[in-house]
Amino acid sequence: MKVKVGINGYGTIGKRIAFAIAKQDDMEVVGVTKTRPSYEARLAIKEGIPLYAARPEHIEAFEKDGIKVAGTLEDLLSKVDIIVDATPGDVGAVYKPMYEKAGVKAIFQGGEKHGVAGISFNSFANYHEAWGARFVRVVSCNTTGLIRTLYPIDKVFGIEKVFAALIRRGADPADRKGAALNAIEPTLKLPTHHGPDVQTIMPWLNIQTMAVVTPTTQMHIHCLAVDLKKKAKDEDILSVWDKVPRIKFVSGKHGIKSSAQIMELARDLNRPRGDFMEIIVWEDGVKVVNSTLYYYQAVHQESDVIPENIDCIRAMMKLERDPMRSIRKTDRSLGIGK
Ligand code: NAD
Repeated sequence: MKVKVGINGYGTIGKRIAFAIAKQDDMEVVGVTKTRPSYEARLAIKEGIPLYAARPEHIEAFEKDGIKVAGTLEDLLSKVDIIVDATPGDVGAVYKPMYEKAGVKAIFQGGEKHGVAGISFNSFANYHEAWGARFVRVVSCNTTGLIRTLYPIDKVFGIEKVFAALIRRGADPADRKGAALNAIEPTLKLPTHHGPDVQTIMPWLNIQTMAVVTPTTQMHIHCLAVDLKKKAKDEDILSVWDKVPRIKFVSGKHGIKSSAQIMELARDLNRPRGDFMEIIVWEDGVKVVNSTLYYYQAVHQESDVIPENIDCIRAMMKLERDPMRSIRKTDRSLGIGK
């Protein structure tokens, strides 16, 4: 029997999670919610996914537009084992009492506070913490990116201290709002929330972060300086990352010099939606000087958290005890690593 999953919020993240679940043999989407009869609502119906109104007061707008919904979120909750909340930041917390009342498990996204679930999740670092859990939060795209590369380095060489500067995309490609078109905006509240967010999963890590929002929709770029406990050469670092799934090397020498070419590569590889779920590391931008490792990585904000959501469902629903088996199953199904 497949685990029955509902998705509250069928936007940038929600629709990608639905697509990824459809590729799994141990779980299925039984419905998604929308607040308005948008094109995404129509797409869900076209793809045969039952559509629910997030709130009873939304039904009228759907009916006026000729869309028959299968019910409301409350009805959807009565049909699922687990709900994935992919509503905008801090909205998930508002829905938590409904999930509690319905007696279903719930996954929240990175726009929520750690406290909404009490467990923050990354497939590699703490899969076991989500085992059978009632509520879990999959951390944000940036935090997922930082943990994907830092966790294996910490395991092998030990990390004394991390400094990360995050060059953030101003908005997602489909957004009509976001950062100014012609401005670069430093985040003045220091250190930024990204370091503490990494510490919700790696509490022992000494990490400080700064961030700058830029007028691009493509990706985030991270510039990292990592003080190591053990000696390492450039090739030792690359060899550790080479063995870890969900990290992909690119090379400036081969013409990939910016986020634009990474996104073009995703399209050339026929990745679904032109997404890149791996964290992209420039292999010719990795350098150890004395005991400090410097590197650049790129994060595709719309998609890197998708495989983590699938693994998180598996851990919470006790479908697979071994994290690496879940990770490899997810990756095979989604074409990650190809
Ligand atoms: P989005 O705005 O693209 O989609 C949100 C969806 O929720 C939309 O379908 C919208 O119709 C629906 N929604 C809005 N208000 C609602 C309400 N009151 N009740 C029910 N549904 C409602 O947002 P997103 O980018 O998909 O972000 C969702 C979550 O994922 C946030 O926590 C965000 O921080 C996190 N996240 C976003 C990104 C990213 O770069 N887009 C990356 C990682 C994590």
